[in-house]
This record gives sequence, C-alpha cells and structure tokens, in this order.
Amino acid sequence: MTHPFLDLAPLDAAHFAAIEDRVARLLSTEQDVVIMQGEALLPLEGAIRGTAGPGTTALNVITGPYGQTFGDWLRDCGATVIDLAVPFHTAVTAAQVREAFSGHPSIDFVSLVHAEAATGNTNPVAEIGEVVREHGALFYVDAVASIGAEPVLPDAWGVDLCVIGAQKAMGGPAGVSAVSVSERAWARMAANPRAPRRSYLSLLDWKERWIDGGRKALLHAPAQLEMLALDACVERIEGEGLDVVMARHAAAAAATRAGTLALGGGLEPYVHEAADAAPVATTLRTPPGLDASALVARALAADPALPLAAGGGALAKEMIRVNHYGADASERVVRSCLTALGAALAEQGVPVDTEGARRAVTEAWR
Ligand SMILES: *Cc1c(COP(=O)(O)O)cnc(C)c1O
Repeated sequence: MTHPFLDLAPLDAAHFAAIEDRVARLLSTEQDVVIMQGEALLPLEGAIRGTAGPGTTALNVITGPYGQTFGDWLRDCGATVIDLAVPFHTAVTAAQVREAFSGHPSIDFVSLVHAEAATGNTNPVAEIGEVVREHGALFYVDAVASIGAEPVLPDAWGVDLCVIGAQKAMGGPAGVSAVSVSERAWARMAANPRAPRRSYLSLLDWKERWIDGGRKALLHAPAQLEMLALDACVERIEGEGLDVVMARHAAAAAATRAGTLALGGGLEPYVHEAADAAPVATTLRTPPGLDASALVARALAADPALPLAAGGGALAKEMIRVNHYGADASERVVRSCLTALGAALAEQGVPVDTEGARRAVTEAWR
C-alpha cells in the first residue's frame, strides 16, 4: 500500500524552481529568490553572516526579540553595531532611522523586523527603505510575520534581503523558508571573505551552484514534504487571492482591538496606536495584579484550540498574544478568544462586558 507522505516521487529541480518562481510572484519581485531548506532562522542567519563582517557598520532596529538576535549575529560577525531600540508598544519611525544615519554616517547595513508576532507591532518598511536607499546601505528585512498579513514588496521598497517563512499568515509549513536577494546583496557576499561557503548557512552556494547553473541541479536532496506543502500553501493563497488573505488578517487585528476595548476589565491593546499594530497578531496588556500567563492558562483550559499565548520571557506577566493568523484569521476565532478571555477575567471577579465585546468584533469585522 502506498502512503501519501512516504511513497512520493523525488522532487526534481524543475519543480523546485517552479516553487521558487511562485514565491517570487507572491513577493512581486524580480530578484533571485532562494528557498532555504530549514525554518526561517536559516536564511535570517545565513544572510547576515553572508553580508556582514569586521568592515560593516550596522544599524540594528530592535522592536522585539528578533532584533536582539540579529544584533548578536552581527556582533559575532565582527560588525560594529548601532542598536536602535524602541519600546514594544510602538513602531520605529523613518525619522528615527534618518537620525541614526546622521549620528553614524558610516552605517552601511540596516536590519529591521517588518512585523513582530511576539510583540504585535509593525514597522513602516517602505518609508524606512527610502532613507536606507538615500544612504546607499544594504537593507535586510525579516518579513516572516508580515508576509500574507500585509503587503511585502522588496523591489518597491528597496529591500536587498527579504526573508519569509510560511508558518504564520501564509498558513503553511515551518520547515522551509525563502529569501529574495538583490544584485547588491550578492555583490556584498561575493566580496566578503567571511561569507559562509560550502556550508548549510551559505546563500552563495545556492547562487554559484544552483542559480548560476541555470537551476538544473539541486545542491542536495530537498525537504520534499515541506516543499510540496509550501507549493500547496502559495497555491491556496493564489486561489483565495493575496488581497483577500491580507484583508482577513487586517480584519482580525481590528476586531481583536475593538473587542478588547469593548470587553473592558482593564485589558487593553499593548500597541498604543492601531497603525503600529501588526495584522498578524494582536498583543494585549493585562491590568496590574493580573498575571497574563495565568489568565491565558484559564482561557485555554476552557478551549485548548484557541490561538492564545502569554508573552515570552519578562513579558509573560503582562502580555497576552492573540495569534490570529493563517486559518485563525477568522471572525469566529477572534470572537472565541475574547469570549474565553472575558470568562477568565470574570472568574477572577473582574467585571467585563462579553456581549459588548462580541458585538464589537462583529461590527469591526465589517
Ligand atoms: C515567527 C517569527 C520568526 C520565525 O520564528 P519561529 O518562532 O520559529 O516561528 C522569525 N521572525 C519573526 C519576526 C517572527 O515573528
């Protein structure tokens, strides 16, 4: 008997290249798109190690935990790192980036996380891209949590290295990821003696042995199941329409925000301005004295399938994450999340308006 996961024909080079082209269309990019055979941390790290070195001066924007990680990699590469950290309840502005360039004219690399699922904010990549371009720096963007939830346009925005993963708003697999690479970024890597070569982290290997060879021979056996899942997930997005998928995420964020404000009980959106809030996930701040992890645990005890989580690390006490992405970007899921949080607050003796929250969700969804 054949098994649907196990007895598959090998994924050949032509199919692999076709999946890359499909991902390139999703990004509206003419740049090379390399699909990496691992979770998004693989191209995120590979792109930094490929382009940064002791001669690099990097502006590293920190709006959540990933920015912190990128700074560590950059320092490890020998780069001089200027950290621009903004509080998690807001987004970075293009003016702040411009100011950083004025203070440090040697900046030739900028790393930025587009949207942060972990902190719930989203940054104005298009505006920041203009500033980065004016100064001729290389622009590296983590779009893992924005792709599928809001526009991601590396060519229009002048992004040299744009990393995506399928496991968030795309509703796809976590085991493969992709990066678009500009000519400038390839040139920077080729000139970098420290860029990984003959390594799993190497983007240059894919350039030299896959792209420059006309995409005829793969470097190694691909992650076949994940590649098929990625193909299917982009095909499903094409079928629904990328605009429709993004609108679903925007509606989920707006409805979560409106529902939270109507619920009351001291729960409020963690990101102050709606414009700075990511469509992929909404973070909420618990009132003083109410532990976010405990509240989430109570809500999940009632319905373990809800996409609720407490914030990571020190944020676990005060932050609730509503991860309304992929199939969970639906009115039903958002309504259920607020109902469960309302019940958990009520159990603690906190007065809430759960009916009002449900109505606000329905209204905001329209
Ligand atoms: C989710 C996410 C990633 C990938 O991390 P996982 O925890 O493995 O899903 C990378 N960058 C950002 C900004 C993310 O939100």
